[in-house]
Amino acid sequence: MAYPIEFLKKIIPRNAGYFLRKIKLFVRGLFYRGTNFFCPICNKGYRTFFEGGFNLAVIGEYQIIGAGLRKNAICPGCASNDRDRLLYLALNDKNLKLLPADSILHIAPEPSLAGWIETKQRKNKGSYTKGVKYHEGFYYGNDVQLMDLLHLPFDDNSFDLLICNHVLEHIPDDIGAMREIHRVMKPGSKSILQVPWSPLLNKTFEDNSITKPKEREEKFGQFDHVRLYGTDYPQRLESAGFQVETISVSQLNLPDNILISYGLNRKEIIFVAKKLMQTR
Ligand SMILES: [Zn+2]
Repeated sequence: MAYPIEFLKKIIPRNAGYFLRKIKLFVRGLFYRGTNFFCPICNKGYRTFFEGGFNLAVIGEYQIIGAGLRKNAICPGCASNDRDRLLYLALNDKNLKLLPADSILHIAPEPSLAGWIETKQRKNKGSYTKGVKYHEGFYYGNDVQLMDLLHLPFDDNSFDLLICNHVLEHIPDDIGAMREIHRVMKPGSKSILQVPWSPLLNKTFEDNSITKPKEREEKFGQFDHVRLYGTDYPQRLESAGFQVETISVSQLNLPDNILISYGLNRKEIIFVAKKLMQTR
């Protein structure tokens, strides 16, 4: 059998697979316990974080942020990556005022972060809705609803916080998706909309004629990405009606030892898109 894992994914019911994934992480977490690294999401120390991401020429050439091979990226215990841990810190940052939020919509929820938000919302009696376009393997539990980002099944002005990371670069009509996100957010509410982007590109690079997975990988940095965002990403969000705030890692005022032990990327920028009180 060429791909035993793929075969197992087909025959194991998804709920059982999701449960098995949790057991695997638990055992792996125990095995790698230590003090060199610390994961704030699962709140435990580890002797190592694993390497994560892909090593592609385009990622180096365009110095793409939010992609590429990173040395200390993956937590053995909860599988959070460096980006998830940075968002955890942003969500806990008092100045950013992202939390508390009565109602949260999380698109393509990162499982580790989602587990933490779930607990928090339960404690605060807030709502937490998770949605995804496809169920992929055992990554998402059955509580993640299927939904299309271009036609969200919610009324206007429904959510106090929306999180949608590393999704827009997969969607041909990204501005349409941004407008839809904007529509379901309450006036005055904020969203976190992370994408991989290049600080060297002034203008987002798109080319509809590039459709082959191999070619997309070479040009955009991943086989299923349809563009590579440039420094004009905030302007694209603004064109959908948002006011955008960019937060650098240094603005979070984290001491050096935290940056190192949490395995964070200092170059990351957090894109916070706000729906104005008076919508345009
Ligand atoms: Zn962890």
